[in-house]
Amino acid sequence: MKRIIAGNWKLHKNPEETRGFFTELLKKIEFRSDRELVFFPPATNLESTAQSLKAGSILWGSQNCCHEVKGAFTGEISAQTISFLGGRVVLIGHSERRTLFHETDELIAKKVRLVQSLDLTPYLCIGETLEERESGKTLDILKKQIIEGLKESDSSKSLVLAYEPVWAIGTGRVASLEQIQEVHLFIRDFLIQRGFSKETPLLYGGSVKPENASEIGLIPNVNGFLIGGASLEVESILKIYQA
Ligand code: PEP
Repeated sequence: MKRIIAGNWKLHKNPEETRGFFTELLKKIEFRSDRELVFFPPATNLESTAQSLKAGSILWGSQNCCHEVKGAFTGEISAQTISFLGGRVVLIGHSERRTLFHETDELIAKKVRLVQSLDLTPYLCIGETLEERESGKTLDILKKQIIEGLKESDSSKSLVLAYEPVWAIGTGRVASLEQIQEVHLFIRDFLIQRGFSKETPLLYGGSVKPENASEIGLIPNVNGFLIGGASLEVESILKIYQA
């Protein structure tokens, strides 16, 4: 299985900065056949991303999409248009979407279904808050997010799952190696029990940096990373890609 190094840019960079980033990246990168590099730029920069990455060796997509293909959904992003532009992946259920934009597991399940029906790969994000971890509810929360988020999914279609403890996102506080190992083993077993492929890539996200990527990457069932802050600089994402 290829290791996935995925960058979530959140609300950073304009189209010109996006072009500049990819021009520099493509100059410096030495591609490896055992790695997949993926970017989620803001939706306003998908066209500049498509133009910059038309050679196709780097995957890209959107940080979100609407749960319906088209209609009266002011302000939403069409998954069909992401696909039309050449995007292959969509991030779904990031904790910032769940918390700041009140996305429910029900809505997330519809997005996963739609994205898979268009032959795009959903990157479903799950993770517990600090309060949930401290009260011993981590595995129950993850179980619920998996059951509900994937309840309309098609297990024969591609899927990537990203475990991102909410308390580790953008905080500089990384989950311990033991915590990551326990959760990733749990998710792997639970997905297999529910009929998903044992090859479903499981990513870890939460303050991944060039300094900690190598040791986290060695944990069993960690098949790559979802990276926020450290994906914004060419040098740091390249260091993680090479780690
Ligand atoms: C993220 O946004 O998904 C993320 C993991 O952010 P950071 O790497 O900055 O913690």
